[in-house]
Amino acid sequence: MSLLIRNTVVASPSGPHRADILVQGPRIVAVGRDLEAPGAEILDAEGLTAGPGFIDVHVHGGGGRTFFSDDPAEVAAYAAWAPSRGVTAFLVSTVGPDAAATAARLSALRPAIQPLPGSAEPLGFHLEGPFLNPIRRGAFPAHYLREPSIAEYETFHEAAGGLVRQVTVAPELPGALPLIHTIARLGAVPALGHTDATVPECRHGFEAGIAHVTHLFNAMRPIHQREGGPVVAALEAPDVTCELICDGAHVEPAVLRLAYRLLGPLRAVIVTDNLHLAGVDAGQAVFAGEEITVSGAHARKADGTIVGSVATFDVHFRNAVEIFGLDLPAAFRLASTNPARVAGAADRKGQLEPGFDADIVLLDHDLHVAATICRGEVAYRRA
Ligand SMILES: [Zn+2]
Repeated sequence: MSLLIRNTVVASPSGPHRADILVQGPRIVAVGRDLEAPGAEILDAEGLTAGPGFIDVHVHGGGGRTFFSDDPAEVAAYAAWAPSRGVTAFLVSTVGPDAAATAARLSALRPAIQPLPGSAEPLGFHLEGPFLNPIRRGAFPAHYLREPSIAEYETFHEAAGGLVRQVTVAPELPGALPLIHTIARLGAVPALGHTDATVPECRHGFEAGIAHVTHLFNAMRPIHQREGGPVVAALEAPDVTCELICDGAHVEPAVLRLAYRLLGPLRAVIVTDNLHLAGVDAGQAVFAGEEITVSGAHARKADGTIVGSVATFDVHFRNAVEIFGLDLPAAFRLASTNPARVAGAADRKGQLEPGFDADIVLLDHDLHVAATICRGEVAYRRA
């Protein structure tokens, strides 16, 4: 099975250039001019730009499917839908109402963490909680939250079959620092988030192993000129990547721009924080047992708390290009190369190079998704 993508412009880090892309089985085997492959399926991409498929490390569902569920079919159905928005890989972001329910959910969803033909690839779990600060809980009900516990985390790790890739944790909670060590030792990325930490508390978290920040600005102590806070600590930490929700509603574009100036193209990560409502027309819905209302790019509770974004990844990508003034190679870093690192898949995803997975998104001149290839198969093609 081979596929030849002809006449595209590759948004490569060394600058956009015209090329063909030859795919064999699930991998890219060549990128260059005038490639020949007798018998290959041909996809003429004249007028389209090719980049590595979008990778969403913070997503709770979309297309009507939710990861706040114990049904692995929900993950598979999301994975089949996501290529229509350019997404080729993702972390299943979830948590349960209590420790037993979280472990049961991870173990129930674990069979879904495998690549299926023509679908985006689930790369593992992002546990958004439960070790979060109650005063920065965002949309999570207070009863979901727990004090840091290594023993509890070990049960999550086992229930998930070692497939937890990212864990959001508030470093100022009692017992958080040894927990952060454990999370890193067991192979996941500890992420700062839902936190009220001061700058020194954040620094202790970074020293303990925190390497990433969950939706910078949202659900954390805001910047204060005498207190600093997590945003400042994260922006000045040298190697820490930061999630930016670019739906235009979670964070004011001028604030996003300010953060991006400090983060640069190697540390910023576009995420959607999408709910199941992303990409569907629905005015009212339920989140963690509470009624929420959807309007525009986001969903809110009755008290005004933003629950999550409903603008899909392709919208966030276009917003990021406009808000940050990015060229496409830089935009693909934020949407694919950097998140591949967070998800622990940088050796096979996030770059459009021979040897990498053939996860490719083709965008038209308005940056809308024209086609998406997942591990060598055309998973989406616009009618
Ligand atoms: Zn979230």
